[in-house]
Amino acid sequence: MTLRIPFDNSYARLPQGFFAPTAPTPVARPRLIRLNRPLALELGLDPDQLASPEGAEILAGNRLAEGSEPIATAYAGHQFGHFVPQLGDGRAILLGEVVGRDGRRRDIQLKGSGPTPFSRRGDGRAALGPVLREYLVSEAMAALGIPTTRALAAVATGETVIRDTLLPGAVLTRVASSHVRVGTFQFFAARNDVERLRALADHVLTRHYPEAAAAEKPYAALLAQIVARQAELVARWLLVGFIHGVMNTDNMSIAGETIDYGPCAFMDAYDPGTVFSSIDQHGRYAYGAQPQIALWNLSRLAEAFLPLLNADTPAAVAEAEDVLGRFGPLFEADFHGGLNRKLGLAAVREGDPALAGDLLKRMAENQADFTLTFRNLARAAEDPTADEAVRRLFVDPTAFDSWAVRWRDRLAEEPGDAASRAAAMRAVNPAFIPRNHRVEAMIEAAVERDDLTPFEELLTVLSRPYDDQPAHAHYAEAPEGGGVGYRTFC
Ligand code: AMP
Ligand code: MG
Ligand code: MG
Repeated sequence: MTLRIPFDNSYARLPQGFFAPTAPTPVARPRLIRLNRPLALELGLDPDQLASPEGAEILAGNRLAEGSEPIATAYAGHQFGHFVPQLGDGRAILLGEVVGRDGRRRDIQLKGSGPTPFSRRGDGRAALGPVLREYLVSEAMAALGIPTTRALAAVATGETVIRDTLLPGAVLTRVASSHVRVGTFQFFAARNDVERLRALADHVLTRHYPEAAAAEKPYAALLAQIVARQAELVARWLLVGFIHGVMNTDNMSIAGETIDYGPCAFMDAYDPGTVFSSIDQHGRYAYGAQPQIALWNLSRLAEAFLPLLNADTPAAVAEAEDVLGRFGPLFEADFHGGLNRKLGLAAVREGDPALAGDLLKRMAENQADFTLTFRNLARAAEDPTADEAVRRLFVDPTAFDSWAVRWRDRLAEEPGDAASRAAAMRAVNPAFIPRNHRVEAMIEAAVERDDLTPFEELLTVLSRPYDDQPAHAHYAEAPEGGGVGYRTFC
């Protein structure tokens, strides 16, 4: 039986120069360690076939499913502010696209599947730890309701990869609405290849932004929609304490999905300056810097778009600036709307951003855990005797008390009963996030002891982040010392 995946590839139809046809390199002993069965079904794939020995071979890159046209895509990018004219998929191979049950077209990509023409000095491989982290965190983000790439499978390769030490290797199967990045546009713009730049924009319009395609000025409308989706995405990150860690322009999807989980992490104690990535020495990608960085990246995208907007004239610059000018207000509206919901407040009224901002300031001064503060606030919203669960998160609990008086005055102006307000708050304030200390322990168990139980358990808990799960309450707890000093590597 030959496993057939109903591929319908559009990127592989683009002109020469967009990608290099590249087959995955087989691995020694593929072993399926996790298959995302619900996602397989969503994509219209047969989970039992994928879980078969033949399926595992496909997910390892040892054989190709019928209809697969494996390619490595070309892109450029600003890495930590420095432009690199050619990056590209150095360790990822796009197997093809499928149209799922919901009619959505999605890419199926192997990550860690061997060298490509874009590998430069890299080995094209991935280690088990980072593969499990990406699997877990991307699925946690999906369960939180945040746009993201998904994880379809993880396969152990039976080979070692050389990093600082020898590590077990793995391949991740990643599913994305798109693998087109800001850096893909930069790739052609840097080469003054307006023809391919236009072909890329047309592809993106057709595939991702059909409403913009129908607009009077499709390219300006496209840029505006990408900007709006990114503003919303970054607001959503901030509202759950997520830090991407490496927001280079090649790691920013034009579809507005979180992509490329490397040194990402969730903040424990609230501090807008939080940085976890060992390679981010100057805090360029700190938690609170993410909105400005998103705008910086979008500015690079707008520059790449200039030839498409009024043929690079001063009018094009004005048009790009007008679109970029919308980022700030859109972000503020998404962020403050979200903060309001976290506080149990519906429409944003004058004074609400200041009220929320004051809470955040007090949290920062008192090393309050971000997730627990908001989650416990939901209880306090229906039961003032539950204030203790919030105030004990503050070094000086009275810093919460004086704020809570103002919060309750404002809540009194809201319609609706306390119980439904608390339920609405729980629906936006997760109890469970991928806590760094849990993720590290999960990786250590898998890598050092070949024990995948913590991975499976964490994955299960994080699939219902907004539900109280009393049996798993320990997964909601903050680490000792607020997680200060934690480092991620990629
Ligand atoms: P990243 O920081 O993960 O977004 O990767 C930046 C660039 O380095 C991309 O072009 C990747 O494909 C490439 N890259 C990262 N790791 C490897 C590797 N092990 N082998 C080859 N290329 C890599
Ligand atoms: Mg990347
Ligand atoms: Mg990466």
